[in-house]
Amino acid sequence: MAKKYVYSWGDGKAEGSGKLKDLLGGKGANLAEMSRLGVPVPPGFTITTEMCRFYWENGQKLPEILKEEAGIALKNLEKLSGKKFGDANNPLLVSVRSGAAISMPGMMDTILNLGLNDEVADGLAKLTNNPRFAWDSYRRFMQMLGDVALGIEHEKFEEKLNEIKAKKGVKNDLDLDADDLHEVVKLYKEVYRSEGKEFPQEPVEQLWVAVEAVFASWNNKRAIKYREINGMDKMGLLGTAVNVQMMAFGNMGESSGTGVAFTRNPNTGEDKTYGEFLLNAQGEDVVAGIRTPQPLDQLKEINPEVHKELIDTMNRLETVFKDMQDIEFTIENGKLYFLQTRNGKRTAAAAVKIAVDMVNEGLITKGTAITRVKPADIEKLLHPTFDIEELNKAEYFGKGLPASPGAATGMAVFNADDAEAKAKEGLPVILIRPETSPEDIGGMDAAEAILTSTGGMTSHAAVVARGMGKTAVVGAENIVINDKAKTAISNGITIKEGDWLSIEGTEGKVFAGKIKTIKPTGLEGDIKTLLDFADEVSDLGVRANADIPRDAKIAREFGARGIGLCRTEHMFFEGDRIKKMRRMIVSKTKEQREAALAELLPVQKEDFKGLFESMEGYAVTIRLLDPPLHEFVPHEDAAIKDVAESVGITEEELRKVIDDLEEFNPMMGHRGVRLAVTYPEIAEMQIKAIMLAAIEMVKEGKKVKPEIMIPLVGNVKEFTLLRNSAEEIIKNLLKEHQVDVEYKIGTMIEVPRATVTADQIGENADFFSFGTNDLTQLSLGFSRDDYGKYIGDYLEKGIYDSDPFQHIDRNGVGRLIKTAVDLGRGANPHIKLGVCGEHGGDPESVEFCHLVGLDYVSCSPYRVPVARLAAAQAAVEFRRGKKVNY
Ligand code: ADP
Ligand code: MG
Ligand code: MG
Repeated sequence: MAKKYVYSWGDGKAEGSGKLKDLLGGKGANLAEMSRLGVPVPPGFTITTEMCRFYWENGQKLPEILKEEAGIALKNLEKLSGKKFGDANNPLLVSVRSGAAISMPGMMDTILNLGLNDEVADGLAKLTNNPRFAWDSYRRFMQMLGDVALGIEHEKFEEKLNEIKAKKGVKNDLDLDADDLHEVVKLYKEVYRSEGKEFPQEPVEQLWVAVEAVFASWNNKRAIKYREINGMDKMGLLGTAVNVQMMAFGNMGESSGTGVAFTRNPNTGEDKTYGEFLLNAQGEDVVAGIRTPQPLDQLKEINPEVHKELIDTMNRLETVFKDMQDIEFTIENGKLYFLQTRNGKRTAAAAVKIAVDMVNEGLITKGTAITRVKPADIEKLLHPTFDIEELNKAEYFGKGLPASPGAATGMAVFNADDAEAKAKEGLPVILIRPETSPEDIGGMDAAEAILTSTGGMTSHAAVVARGMGKTAVVGAENIVINDKAKTAISNGITIKEGDWLSIEGTEGKVFAGKIKTIKPTGLEGDIKTLLDFADEVSDLGVRANADIPRDAKIAREFGARGIGLCRTEHMFFEGDRIKKMRRMIVSKTKEQREAALAELLPVQKEDFKGLFESMEGYAVTIRLLDPPLHEFVPHEDAAIKDVAESVGITEEELRKVIDDLEEFNPMMGHRGVRLAVTYPEIAEMQIKAIMLAAIEMVKEGKKVKPEIMIPLVGNVKEFTLLRNSAEEIIKNLLKEHQVDVEYKIGTMIEVPRATVTADQIGENADFFSFGTNDLTQLSLGFSRDDYGKYIGDYLEKGIYDSDPFQHIDRNGVGRLIKTAVDLGRGANPHIKLGVCGEHGGDPESVEFCHLVGLDYVSCSPYRVPVARLAAAQAAVEFRRGKKVNY
């Protein structure tokens, strides 16, 4: 059988209906579905998206087969409507409407009243006894066909319309009468001629012109850009469908009108219909803001029957489509028609409320509810946002990577000390730095937000800001930051110390000046309920990366079940611990080092105990010291002098130590397990501290599950060396204290060699935690601190689809992870597998973690809710047949 390019609806028997979205477009499929349900829709037919594809692949001409098939559908439409196309005595007028499978504002505007010409307009005037209506419809049609299909500027028509209004001395087009509008039609014909075009009088010709314009609009600049921005160009869409539909006239007088309505409030989610309408109006008049529409409730007073039918049908549509519907309707002389229904757009708060309410009403399952809320929506609800009105007026300053979500406003400071000093005075500050380092922690903590010009999504600034739940934009390469001169320059604006600045971390935008922020709702009420649903359906556990009890507590409140990464090095910067740490580093002998470590031990033990307490009952993974020691020594003259004094060596000696620690490539330097290989006593101290804290917990009758994690292992022998000495220490401690502790010893998998030897390591380890930041860095050979300089070119040229530090590179790094999972589980079926890189809080990467069958993801506390939702969505979507995409 030949392919079918045209589908009719309106006879209550539409085939296929809702399921044919890809072929009929969203609008067409739903019109057919409504007609099948017996909802009053003006009859019509849909030309498929396949025909759009055909059109583009065959020289942009409408083929004869289409004209034949559409001709039959048109005859059918005449029969259903009881009117005839082009018949002046009883004319059928139609609208021509575009509609792709996914709604796309970039495409062609609708053409209304098609089928009118001089003769038909005259006839319509007589038939309806309403010449004003006839000429109003005609002039609207001429304008729309000219503007939308024939490329004549809208303005040219408006000029003529205004000419007549001026002549008449009126402002509103409702004040023009039939004669005036007849006059407008004449002037519009002149507009066509002055553009070298003739208004087509033949209705069938009008139809083909309009249909062709819809197909052509699929590839106009606007549409292409829209698909690109919204990632639709990779979705394999065929094109747009065209809907040809009998007109329902909302402009026939005061018993007619048109409107839009939602089955629930799209702003708040409240379960109450919400909408607006205009009497004696057509098409987009309601949204165009020409006149002020009336709220839906007022329709009840004007026409209670129509109001009731509207509300009843809307409720029915919601029950059928099982989601909040956004509908368009028109009333023609007291008769109600539905022109469109679709799942309505809504605010983040409404999305959550509607999803939860619909579960409680028994309309949808928990699994469905979870897919109704975007992870980004949860992020929005849990972070401050900018006041929309002020944001719209704000002065754009620059853009960087969206390192940590939220919105913040404050005064510019250019170093950590100034940030702390100003914050002490109670001033809100934004810390602006070329980049940040561990020494800036205090200033970062004091600031409302952080802005840097270098570094990527896993740079120090990004990681720390996310951990603190603080808004940050990093790697804003176009903003020139001079921390000596204390200026930031971009977009022709210079920000000096003390100037106001506003940072938006969800999209990565920076604005000059002050913008009001709006407080987030917090994890309570419906959001909490929704995330509880999420945990019920999800296969992945969610833990948090947290170093201190305060963060662990926040993580618990956000629903983290355990800590997947405690970076012990962060503990060494606080208060006077750094001094002890430095004394340890400058030690010349093992004895000296052990003495310094002995001072650190009780401090570390207390830290760990605090973490265990705030995560009671859940696993807490503690990573042994990871960064190169160079990060702990001072670098500025004054600090060097100070430190030398306090640790009791000469400045000279200290400088020698610092020089010795310096490395060409610290990221691949003396760090991670390598530190433990060289200085076993550091690891020993940490292991003791972990176990002593755990032992205390047990003695106090509390539950504890410590997990000791060895970083940067690439060779199983590194691991076994550490494990053996750890087991020895632990055995002795447990014996000495006469208690039992359930503990695990595992490793981070972040060196590519570890992934391909994961069977050897897995045989000896209790868990793997993929450190995807380093794994990405080392696999791609991209330094995460410098890749910002070229990643833009890589993305532009399509070498990578997205920033590999933001979303896991499934094709490369992903395969290494998959290999390690298979090898690890093969060697040790009980091995626990997780991710603790920054990817653990990125929805797209969480989906990947679900796909490869990890046990958990771990991310910064503030991203825990997002990860919970993303994990649940992955579980639901793949269970429902989403294709595995790696
Ligand atoms: P969009 O995709 O931009 O919403 P539509 O195809 O829905 O465009 O058309 C816009 C408006 O035109 C509709 O909201 C409706 O008011 C009006 N319209 C479209 N078709 C008809 C019709 N057959 N009868 C009356 N009005 C129509
Ligand atoms: Mg519409
Ligand atoms: Mg690492």
